[in-house]
Amino acid sequence: MATDGDTTDTGDGEGDDNHAGDAGDEPSVPIVCTECDTRTRVPLSKVGDLVDRHNDTRHDGESVAQVDPALADRIADLVAEDMGLLEGE
Ligand SMILES: [Zn+2]
Repeated sequence: MATDGDTTDTGDGEGDDNHAGDAGDEPSVPIVCTECDTRTRVPLSKVGDLVDRHNDTRHDGESVAQVDPALADRIADLVAEDMGLLEGE
């Protein structure tokens, strides 16, 4: 028994800290504004806020900017999933 030095430590080098600032694995969704001709990607959890804010500050509260219609369906699904609404109990 001479083989020593094999220190098998359980590598715990993967610290997945979730500090604020990064969207992490949160899905981002595109907001489009036809009047400004802009397209912005925002985190799903903030999309409502940001659309409101944009319309509020740029368009006097009119609903001009919106989630990319092509994705709206999918997003509704994501949100529903997030809230557990798809799990019909
Ligand atoms: Zn706009």
